[in-house]
Amino acid sequence: MSTFVVAVDGPAGSGKSSVSKQVARELGFGYLDTGAAYRALAWQVLAQASKADGSSEAALEAMRDLNSPTELAAHFDYAISTDPDNFWVKVGETDVTEAIRSNEVAEFVSQVARIQVVRDFMKALTRQLAADCQKPGIIIEGRDITTVVAPDAQKRLLVTASETVRLERRGAELAKGQNPSSDAMAAEKLKRQISQRDASDAKVVDFMTPAPGVTLVDTTELDFNQTVRTVLDLINQAS
Ligand code: C5P
Repeated sequence: MSTFVVAVDGPAGSGKSSVSKQVARELGFGYLDTGAAYRALAWQVLAQASKADGSSEAALEAMRDLNSPTELAAHFDYAISTDPDNFWVKVGETDVTEAIRSNEVAEFVSQVARIQVVRDFMKALTRQLAADCQKPGIIIEGRDITTVVAPDAQKRLLVTASETVRLERRGAELAKGQNPSSDAMAAEKLKRQISQRDASDAKVVDFMTPAPGVTLVDTTELDFNQTVRTVLDLINQAS
């Protein structure tokens, strides 16, 4: 792994991705968004199912039958950047950086993420990407990084915010450029989607309570810059 690893976990909409990316830029570290890797896998399952005119449920079933992460690796060919200034995700030759943010993927990804062979595959992939990163350190963010993927990281953080604040932040991103009535509908849909995804993800891994040795960063009362400063201070204390 990169010499200095910062593990960051947290729920959807906690701000962990944008904060981790900015912290990585300021430190000259690599940045790895493991959620994007899970989303890319979900995107590929959906794309393959639609191409084959099959159901996504059948594709999930086939994935559950795989015996090892190596078997899964043989089926999926994707690459993910660790550069915070040039972030992209590719499946084969297709750039899916934008496509993995669709509602369809967001609503499907938890079903992929709860398959054990997928989690084993992601753990190995994340560790490999961190080992390959040429920067002096790397910020890895997700749901199980502090506990499963990098429990020995030099700094482990759990970034949270109240549910109201998390929904506001996601809603503000989504509402840009839309009219007020579709804003209200979108906000309702988003609220349902985030709550359902968190509930589903929480059955697989606990990302709401810090494990022993993990520092809780509650960003409910903090703006983006204050959160970045707080995280940088915590990392500096550890180095
Ligand atoms: O972070 P993001 O919201 O993009 O993550 C997308 C999904 O990937 C999560 O809802 C979860 O199902 C899965 N995930 C995971 N473990 C991680 C990172 C993401 O299960 N370390």
